[in-house]
Amino acid sequence: MRNVIILGSGCAGNTAAVYAARAGLNPLVVIGHEPGGQLSVTTEVENFPGFPEAILGPDLVENIKKQAERFGAEYIWGTVDQAKLGERPFRISVDGEWHEARAVIIATGASARWLGLPNEQKLIGRGVSSCATCDGAFHRDGKIMVIGGGDSAMEEANFLTRFGAEISLVHRSDQFRASKIMLDRARANPKIKFLTNTVVTDIYDVSKNRVTGVQLHDSSTNRTWDQEVSGFFVAIGHIPNTRPFLGQIDTDTDGYIVSKGGARTNIKGVFHAGDVQDRVYRQAITAAGAGCMAAIEAERFLEAEGH
Ligand SMILES: Cc1cc2nc3c(=O)[nH]c(=O)nc-3n(C[C@H](O)[C@H](O)[C@H](O)COP(=O)(O)OP(=O)(O)OC[C@H]3O[C@@H](n4cnc5c(N)ncnc54)[C@H](O)[C@@H]3O)c2cc1C
Repeated sequence: MRNVIILGSGCAGNTAAVYAARAGLNPLVVIGHEPGGQLSVTTEVENFPGFPEAILGPDLVENIKKQAERFGAEYIWGTVDQAKLGERPFRISVDGEWHEARAVIIATGASARWLGLPNEQKLIGRGVSSCATCDGAFHRDGKIMVIGGGDSAMEEANFLTRFGAEISLVHRSDQFRASKIMLDRARANPKIKFLTNTVVTDIYDVSKNRVTGVQLHDSSTNRTWDQEVSGFFVAIGHIPNTRPFLGQIDTDTDGYIVSKGGARTNIKGVFHAGDVQDRVYRQAITAAGAGCMAAIEAERFLEAEGH
């Protein structure tokens, strides 16, 4: 029986592990399908406090993990495929093997949706991004492309006009899911050029290890052409990794955990941390802060229960 099991090894899970381990709770951390979480796929992180010269994303999460291990956190490989949170002790299945715990911290993140183009994953962190706040500043005076037709695409495009010389907003249809106000704002911005009925069919250039351009196809005219860009921002949504908990934990219509204040969920003893609950900020530092909150709440919960 564990005091606390932490699900996920991104900024949120690893930070929760530091705090829980230092509180003497000997946490077990389930690494998941993406060791180190989303930061493990990017390159330079310039906005995590404490690193004036920036730090590589994989180094940052690995450092937090080492810090947690130093205080006794234990990591196991595998992915949570089932959870029984309706009664205590809570039961968590990791690739079919059941573990029991008095408290659970869910820090399983929200995965960005990608287009699925062959070169896309190879160029993440090298011009391909899902986060304008994170990577916009790398493209000062550059040509930037944003993909999507919803509010987040409009928001990302507007934000990126602070940096880029020109922003192309590519959408596969001429109908937008975005709210009128967001769409109007983007349309009124002279730096944003709309390319509707258009899809990206390829991203260049893996041999140069950075984005240099894309191939586009306009389905209304059947035209195919190449366009030069240095930044390629995919803004077609995120998928919260909550599948094993659905029906037990309160989630919103998109599957994000609904917070009951602090790091609390609707189940006493089960806490949330990071992007799995946060659809607004989605930053490494906010995820780390949320991990800290969840561990403190778990520690207080266990204390109150006499453990
Ligand atoms: C390309 C890119 C660049 C970014 N750059 C920056 C940046 O420069 N600065 C910044 O502040 N933020 C940046 N971000 C955002 C930042 O990475 C996230 O906000 C942060 O990683 C969220 O941390 P998290 O721990 O909540 O979730 P994640 O990092 O998503 O980690 C989730 C963890 O949960 C695990 N998991 C998922 N499902 C399961 C399961 N069923 N069982 C067990 N484990 C599971 C995964 O394996 C993973 O370890 C970037 C994101 C991306 C994609």
